Amino acid sequence: MAKTSKFEAIVKAKCPRCRRGNIFSGSLYGLNLQTTNENCSHCGMRFEVEPGYFYGAMYVSYAFVVGEMLNVGLLTYLITGNDKSPWLYITAILLSILVLTPVNYRYSKVFLLHLLTPKIKYNPEYDTDDKIRNI
Ligand SMILES: [Zn+2]
Repeated sequence: MAKTSKFEAIVKAKCPRCRRGNIFSGSLYGLNLQTTNENCSHCGMRFEVEPGYFYGAMYVSYAFVVGEMLNVGLLTYLITGNDKSPWLYITAILLSILVLTPVNYRYSKVFLLHLLTPKIKYNPEYDTDDKIRNI
């Protein structure tokens, strides 16, 4: 019975407690918009561990966006070299932010759940193929 690694659970946006259930329904870039599930379908953990918990994801998302803007700006500079037009940078940065919005939405919550909330702990006993509910 293989256990799920933390890395795999983060990449696949799985529940931080059992690493089996999906945090989101809907696909990242699908036509059905992704929504955050209330509870884990595998272990029953409530993802919004306290009222307003996911407001914290805004700060994570902010950090993501700043990093992406810096990287896209630098990349634009490296690719275009001498072009000094600010509109080139503004267009490239805004387009990348727009394209990456679903990624930021998903992974800001995943990072918050997996890495920034110490009270949520992985429990290997829940990481099984047997369906467990209401623990
Ligand atoms: Zn779970």
